[in-house]
Amino acid sequence: MGQELIRELVILGGGTAGWMTAAALSRALNGRVSVTLVESEDIGTVGVGEATIPAITLFNRMLDIDEDDFLRATQGTFKLGIEFIDWGDIGNRYMHAFGHFPSDIQIASFEQVWQKMRRHGHAHELSAYSITRAAASAGKFMRPDESHPLLDNLAYAFHFDASLYARYLRRYSEARGVKRVEGRVVDVRQDPVSGDIAALVMEGGAVVSGEFFVDCSGFRGRLIEEVLHTGYEDWSHWLPCDRAVFVPSASNGGPLPYTRASAHGAGWQWRIPLQHRVGNGYVHSSLHVSEDEAVATLLGHLDGEALAAPRTLRFKAGMRRRAWNRNCVAIGLAGGFLEPLESTSIHLVQTAISRLLAFFPAQRQSLEDIAEFNRRSRQEYEHVRDFVILHYHATRRNDTAFWNHCRTMEIPESLAKRIRLYRAQGRIAEDNPEIFTERNWVQVLQGQGIEPEGYAAILDVVDSGDIEDYLASLRSAIASLVEAMPSHGQWLQDLQRGQA
Ligand SMILES: Cc1cc2nc3c(=O)[nH]c(=O)nc-3n(C[C@H](O)[C@H](O)[C@H](O)COP(=O)(O)OP(=O)(O)OC[C@H]3O[C@@H](n4cnc5c(N)ncnc54)[C@H](O)[C@@H]3O)c2cc1C
Repeated sequence: MGQELIRELVILGGGTAGWMTAAALSRALNGRVSVTLVESEDIGTVGVGEATIPAITLFNRMLDIDEDDFLRATQGTFKLGIEFIDWGDIGNRYMHAFGHFPSDIQIASFEQVWQKMRRHGHAHELSAYSITRAAASAGKFMRPDESHPLLDNLAYAFHFDASLYARYLRRYSEARGVKRVEGRVVDVRQDPVSGDIAALVMEGGAVVSGEFFVDCSGFRGRLIEEVLHTGYEDWSHWLPCDRAVFVPSASNGGPLPYTRASAHGAGWQWRIPLQHRVGNGYVHSSLHVSEDEAVATLLGHLDGEALAAPRTLRFKAGMRRRAWNRNCVAIGLAGGFLEPLESTSIHLVQTAISRLLAFFPAQRQSLEDIAEFNRRSRQEYEHVRDFVILHYHATRRNDTAFWNHCRTMEIPESLAKRIRLYRAQGRIAEDNPEIFTERNWVQVLQGQGIEPEGYAAILDVVDSGDIEDYLASLRSAIASLVEAMPSHGQWLQDLQRGQA
């Protein structure tokens, strides 16, 4: 027999994390649990999260959201990957594209076979065999098609205005019974015996009580930290960027179907194309560059007119020591922060929501469940952390103190082990399920200039001549498919006219 579920859940915070949580719970719980969301318009939201990874399409599907309607409401565009400029070295440029490589060669993964072919000079760069990368570079777009052997490998995510997304999900959640309370929480009551959170006290004296609380209150962690004193694990010795200056700019030309991440002297600048504007921000280390210099660098690298004065956000890379503490789970910025280099924050919100549903609180919660929830949250954060650190560390740049620090710093042993394994025979360590898999790691390792010393011995049974022919035909099939695709701009125009 299952345990009886809790009856009243309260979410503190109405940013992307709060409304994504409310929407998913209202959909999944089918009215069995009352959900209240408290937010304060005065405090506001961070609202700069604009780029995502492909799993966001699953989240929208779970909510049964019409994708075209969502894109119209959020000024969204399609995203096929991220172009990295000047990371491995100044002048270095590569694309980390979404999607898969073909799986026709059955003895090993495509990436492994490619390692061997490349070593013998019989293959182009890995990205030459990615349909998603080819579409991105050509400014084209098409949705994947499971019945087509190549289009099946394509995958996409979105760029969107995060504030509009939160508003969209608010309408969705309220229509499904989520109660919204506007106002500032000024005090929190705890059970005098257990120490659990019992109620939020609003400015003006109203009380919002609940059995379980989801802290989506942003960086400060109003419940998880200020009330429960959970503690924060600081990773800034590996990820020294602690600020972002950001500004929207006017679009010049049709929106590109990918994010651009350009490395600068003390960090990197994002360029995220939306339908109505371009989002830009310089993520930097305040130890290595002043705010005035950072703003000048940001503005100096815009490719359209700035549409507002630049603003600054401060943060510290790391995670809350426990995502679930007492009767509170922290989701979003309240749970931790990893810079948006691989667009993972909104994704970490999504996976935390899935975990919350899988471990949904019962009247009597097992401590083992909570420990497992926390173990999985940590594993996921550390995985993303290592992937982001790789971009900084695998560089030959020695032009600034910032890059000298990143290139020579000690890295987590988990990442050092992955790099050693790759260097030996091009293999990637994988613990399932992970956000980034072989195709992601190989694109970045190779893009940043790390070369394996050999390849898996078993690949010598593969006939190189056959594979060479196959690779050549793959490239030409990709080229003709992409040639026939509509442009991304055309796709968005059709979407606005309701014809996509
Ligand atoms: C510079 C930067 C760039 C980013 N870019 C990306 C990106 O490209 N892709 C991506 O996936 N993510 C990105 N993120 C992360 C993304 O913005 C956040 O993960 C996401 O917006 C979730 O924020 P949140 O809802 O946790 O917090 P917030 O947006 O800060 O929301 C906090 C909420 O809590 C409420 N609140 C707080 N205290 C109280 C109180 N006392 N009483 C009542 N209400 C209260 C506030 O009113 C607000 O509604 C970026 C983050 C930063 C800092």
